[in-house]
Amino acid sequence: TEFISANDLASLMDVSVNEVIKVCLNMGMFVSINQRLDAEAITVIADEFGYDIEFLSAEEEETVAEIEDDEADLQPRAPIVTIMGHVDHGKTSLLDYIRSATVAKGEAGGITQHIGAYDVMTKSDKRVTFLDTPGHEAFTAMRARGAKVTDIAIIVVAADDSVMPQTREAINHAQAAGVPIVIALNKIDKPGANPDKVREELSVMNILVEEWGGKYQSQEVSAKTGAGIDDLLEKVLLEAEILELKANPDRKAVGTVIEASLDKGRGYVTTILVQTGTMEVGDIVLAGPHFGRVKAMTDHRGKKMKKAGPATPVQVLGLTGAPQAGDKIQVMETEREARELATQRQQLAREQSMRTKKHITLDEIGRRL
Ligand code: GDP
Ligand code: MG
Repeated sequence: TEFISANDLASLMDVSVNEVIKVCLNMGMFVSINQRLDAEAITVIADEFGYDIEFLSAEEEETVAEIEDDEADLQPRAPIVTIMGHVDHGKTSLLDYIRSATVAKGEAGGITQHIGAYDVMTKSDKRVTFLDTPGHEAFTAMRARGAKVTDIAIIVVAADDSVMPQTREAINHAQAAGVPIVIALNKIDKPGANPDKVREELSVMNILVEEWGGKYQSQEVSAKTGAGIDDLLEKVLLEAEILELKANPDRKAVGTVIEASLDKGRGYVTTILVQTGTMEVGDIVLAGPHFGRVKAMTDHRGKKMKKAGPATPVQVLGLTGAPQAGDKIQVMETEREARELATQRQQLAREQSMRTKKHITLDEIGRRL
């Protein structure tokens, strides 16, 4: 198993990734920035920098999260979708169009707010959940923290432009993660749009679309006029069907933190994505080094919710601090248990930061000598 990338290891040790790469080269190991390293490599590299590595098994801690479900308890769940692609190719516009088009469908509710994720009902009355953090940086950061929150990736390519470096990167990241891809050929309303040129460019990197006999679904869309967007969502749902996404709604909720902030009036506001189980108001939760009791839950339109089942994004009030994006959140049996684990994690974080400081000091001394 591989754990973290060379880049992440470097930042944990508070050194530059170039130093890590250099040290590896000296030992005859060729390592690239984003390459994930196995236990042996991590131990050897860390040793060169004066660190002892301790591999903690996560199992002891994950009291609720690791419970396996009986096949019979599993029910179909909505897909969770991330939109990725090159800058200015229309990720934000597409997310905005999809969100506002479904509000216009007449669902009650106030002003939509960006809470990092939202869910919509398609024309065929199926639910789709979107992560509202476009770009593969967020996707990669989440995965680096061990959070798997994307089932399907929509790769947006502007049809009046070309496959660009970030298009390729996004495709590579999705493929490395084993996440199926649906291609959205955007800006089809523009006079200069040439979707065939983009299909051609994609084929060069082995992304052959269905119309050309390949396995990738693609859809011409306009985030400006809305053309093709219903069809795009249907194609996403088709992809989801193949994945047979399921979860058990009848267990204590486990999810992932999407974002968190401190609101003057409401205290800590945490957007989470419930992945399995059902979260309810009153539940005691543990999220990273923080815990709390769920005081209130709202959806992305500010509507109050009492319960949130699998693949539902929800804003939670009541945590004692702001966890990080990618932290796991889980419902605990008792507040005592939640507090103890949160305290342990805080202690661990403090010790780690102290070790880092010590290292910096020794390093500086070394440089002065
Ligand atoms: P992002 O960087 O990928 O999030 O791209 P944006 O959503 O910010 O879009 C970049 C620019 O392209 C903005 O000026 C949008 O208004 C414009 N744009 C996005 N989608 C379309 C489209 O389908 N048609 C047209 N004509 N313009 C679009
Ligand atoms: Mg954008």
